[in-house]
Amino acid sequence: MGFNDILLMDDPGKAELVRMLSAENEDKQLLFDRAARVKEEQVSRKVYFRGLIEFSNICSKNCYYCGIRKGNTKTARYNLSDDEILHAARYAHEKRYGSVVLQAGELRSPAFTRRIEKLCRGIKELSGGELGITLSLGEQDQDTYQRWFESGAHRYLLRIETSNRELYRKIHPPDEYHDFDTRNRCLRELQDIGYQSGTGVMIGLPYQTIERLADDLIFMKEIDVDMVGMGPYIEHHDTPLYRFRHELLPAGARFQLALKMIAALRILMKDINIAAATALQAIDPLGREKGIRAGANVIMPNVTPGLYRNDYALYENKPCTDEDPDDCLDCLDARVQLADGEIGYGEWGDSKHYMKRIQGQNKLQ
Ligand code: SAM
Ligand code: SF4
Repeated sequence: MGFNDILLMDDPGKAELVRMLSAENEDKQLLFDRAARVKEEQVSRKVYFRGLIEFSNICSKNCYYCGIRKGNTKTARYNLSDDEILHAARYAHEKRYGSVVLQAGELRSPAFTRRIEKLCRGIKELSGGELGITLSLGEQDQDTYQRWFESGAHRYLLRIETSNRELYRKIHPPDEYHDFDTRNRCLRELQDIGYQSGTGVMIGLPYQTIERLADDLIFMKEIDVDMVGMGPYIEHHDTPLYRFRHELLPAGARFQLALKMIAALRILMKDINIAAATALQAIDPLGREKGIRAGANVIMPNVTPGLYRNDYALYENKPCTDEDPDDCLDCLDARVQLADGEIGYGEWGDSKHYMKRIQGQNKLQ
């Protein structure tokens, strides 16, 4: 089958996805063009902003790839006060970002559950209910997810990191706190509660193959996610995975592979929200805009106060770490337009896929 025919398939299978992820030169451009067309037809050219508040780098886990893992004693730990978080949310609201994302290291405790509940209610109150809230706070029990949902959060991001059980085991410590099945269970519970649920993977991990990445895309389709955020894996010198740095694809190739993953996913899951991950920009200054061109429709500008940004270093070269939020907004606005996008200021930009999924469920009831 010709490459063009593959791109026009309604439901490409693994072999076709592998061909998309292997595309080079003209085929690669065809892939990006097709993804851009699908995006425009299915979810429009609108790009939605989510103001990202990385409110704490304190984490109880030890993922081998992550710079803020508990075992990294070189990271200065911080935890924004509630006032600082609400201030950042107010800033996002004033700038007419439709939503905020609260992201942090993973903590599980009754006090933490209560804190997030209070923050969600506070964000709803200060914005008169206008700001949408996405949480990205790792694995929690179902009751906690439920309480946060009832407090106003309506989207949750929990990357599976890789859908391959063996690879998952290699990039995490072998204990009950880093369990593949638990992560999957959390994803199911989030959907059952009614969140718009998002997942994603890191691209270019050691031991990862194109076939495994194609499996990751199929996994996303099978669990029927509403949104995806995925970007290149970027090494960090104070993490256990750093010793495999010589076996990685060069950064430029990891970047291109990440763009191809975005484009292939847009063709596979036409109406979901796809975020252009910040990690794209760590490799290429125009990385997120290229992600938009390849099929993404969400950007998460960082609204964390500049003072703390250097300490949320998941990987090396994390962009915009020294800047104040305003610098990011000015550059982003122009760049999105250059990438043929149109910003949906003040809009939640909910996943169309989610809307259809919920309507379908209601009809069945
Ligand atoms: N602690 C929560 C969790 O793990 O879901 C949320 C914060 S965590 C820092 C957010 C994401 O950062 C992870 O899901 C992971 O994919 C990504 N990340 C961590 N280390 C990375 C690295 N070295 N390169 C690229 N992405 C990384
Ligand atoms: Fe903690 Fe998330 Fe980093 Fe894992 S990826 S160490 S859970 S912050």
